[in-house]
Amino acid sequence: MINVKPTYQELLEKANEQEIQIKKVITEKNAITNFEFFVNESPDLVCIADFDCYFKVVNPAFARVLGYSKEELLSKPFIDFVHPEDLEKTKAEVQFLTYNNPSVDFENRYITKSGGVVYLQWKANLNVSNNLIYAIARDITETRKTQKKLLSSERSLNEAQKIAKIGSWDFNLMTQELNWSNELYKIFEIQNKPNNPNLYAEYLSRFTPEDAELLNVNVANTIANNIPYEMEHQIVLDNEKTKWVFCTGVPIVDDTNTVIALKGVVQDITQKKQIDETIKAKEKAEAANKAKSDFLANMSHEIRTPLNGIVGFTDLLLKMNFDKDQLEYLNMVNESANTLMDIINNILDFSKIEAGKLELDFEEIDLHELSHQIINLFKYEANYKKIDLIINIDTKVPQYIIGDSIRLKQIVLNLLSNAMKFTFFGHVRLNVNLVEEKDGFSKIKFSVKDTGIGIKTKNQKKIFQSFVQADSTTTRKYGGTGLGLAISNQLLGLKNSELKLKSTFGEGSDFFFTIEFEKVNEKMEELPFIPEIKVKNKRDTSERHSDLKILIAEDNKINMLLAKTLIKNLFDKCTIIEATNGYEAVQKVLTTIPDIVLMDIQMPILNGYDASREIRKLKEFRHIPIIALTAGVLSGEKERCLEHGMTDYISKPINRVELEETVFKWLNE
Ligand code: ADP
Repeated sequence: MINVKPTYQELLEKANEQEIQIKKVITEKNAITNFEFFVNESPDLVCIADFDCYFKVVNPAFARVLGYSKEELLSKPFIDFVHPEDLEKTKAEVQFLTYNNPSVDFENRYITKSGGVVYLQWKANLNVSNNLIYAIARDITETRKTQKKLLSSERSLNEAQKIAKIGSWDFNLMTQELNWSNELYKIFEIQNKPNNPNLYAEYLSRFTPEDAELLNVNVANTIANNIPYEMEHQIVLDNEKTKWVFCTGVPIVDDTNTVIALKGVVQDITQKKQIDETIKAKEKAEAANKAKSDFLANMSHEIRTPLNGIVGFTDLLLKMNFDKDQLEYLNMVNESANTLMDIINNILDFSKIEAGKLELDFEEIDLHELSHQIINLFKYEANYKKIDLIINIDTKVPQYIIGDSIRLKQIVLNLLSNAMKFTFFGHVRLNVNLVEEKDGFSKIKFSVKDTGIGIKTKNQKKIFQSFVQADSTTTRKYGGTGLGLAISNQLLGLKNSELKLKSTFGEGSDFFFTIEFEKVNEKMEELPFIPEIKVKNKRDTSERHSDLKILIAEDNKINMLLAKTLIKNLFDKCTIIEATNGYEAVQKVLTTIPDIVLMDIQMPILNGYDASREIRKLKEFRHIPIIALTAGVLSGEKERCLEHGMTDYISKPINRVELEETVFKWLNE
């Protein structure tokens, strides 16, 4: 055997080969070290596990994310760390890993050591050479939580849209994609969300052609000029049903201020519209009612003026010498005018109450005196009809109370006049009783009882309605307008009271009500009078007033003539100075210095209040009594008269006796 010694060349080649090998080993070793470094530093969870479900290797990210140490993680099957609800799913994924299916992607939840839940997204591979699972997982807990929140806020948004009946939409100009919210489908009553590539056409098909055109113009304008639009219009649904909607669209722009999308809402305002319509209809009806009441009030007021003339002059004529027939005719004119006046006054009251213009005027009332005054008005009639007229005032009823004497009188008078009208034998009785007394207030019951025709049960409610009487024969037999009880009831309503009735047909009726009045223990002081004049109650003879100067300020010719005639009847020798407006009245007072002034309130140029104020400005004219002639239509009229420096007032239509008493009371000697 020949031993051949290697050549130098051969030795050199071998040495190089060995060096390459060593370098390769070093490089491989370095690569493994670097790989381990990456695995250790990886934010994702990296592991090797076997098919017994035990981790073999876990990187530090496991401990960081799950909170368990490496030893704890390796000590028991990994499925022990999996969320119970995801256990089955995880086991299935592991079993799914086979030679033919070496890779799986799935998501599950792990329970951390502190009891929290983490969402992990896995990619697992089977290494067939060693039958181990090499897996990597990413912690997606934050993403899932955000998604959950988003989902819940989307649900809330949907709920809110549902409640407010607002549907929303967005339209991407680049992709031409249009999205509708659920509620929008509901507003348009489209049952199944259609996979319609042209939702916009669907939307437009519910518009009237004019509104559709307007919408197109609005949308084009929003895109071109970057300005929002608003529209309110009707839509017609498939089933021909109509709805009112309010639509808005706003532009969405990019960094260069170019419109790239539109967003908008559609609100179903049908219900709101219906309510608006109802309110409008109600307002219209109220306005019409008010117009009616105003008309009635104006008409009644206008009619009252000439009627005052008829009543006043027939009153005067009745005192003159006429033959029997003439007197009878005059009486009929006078009575008819008085009846007409009552009706007009009722209508005036009724329209004032309807228009909410009637207010109560409170003052001190002597209740006992007032009750007797009212009863006295019916004495003649009762005597004539041979009916007993009885008044019974409970001794506990306070004498002085605070109330509206005119309205209280009106109610009781109305009840008594009805009782008198419908009673033909027996009696009519006014009872005034104290029901309760508390904290300076007295609850008083007024009852008007008669033994008249009575009212059938079926009519007992309806007679309280305006313009309603018990039956159709009533007007023919007894007259009346059917307004008295309605007005009385409405007046009582202003004091939180109402009329009540007990009646038996054929036996009689009892109309009653209770009112709470403030009690006055002592009689209040009379209101101070402005002028310093001596009061004279006794009547003088007219002859002694030959130098008497009386100024009458009145713009209405008939009223002027009536006032003049009444005054001339009282003082035939006196001088009457006439003024047809407030301005003229002031001028004539200054130039003629009258003894007394009768001043109408509603006059042209200067009204009675202002004229009186002007007169009172001058010291030397402060003593002249100014008697207001009030229409008594406006509440607080009397107080205003006194506030403006007037001395006293007489309400129209002028009553001869009242005028006489007032003028005598205030005349200077
Ligand atoms: P008027 O008396 O003007 O018709 P009212 O409102 O005062 O209007 O009364 C309405 C109706 O109620 C009367 O028409 C009458 O039918 C009935 N009525 C009122 N009071 C009595 C009464 N005391 N007895 C019988 N019927 C009455």
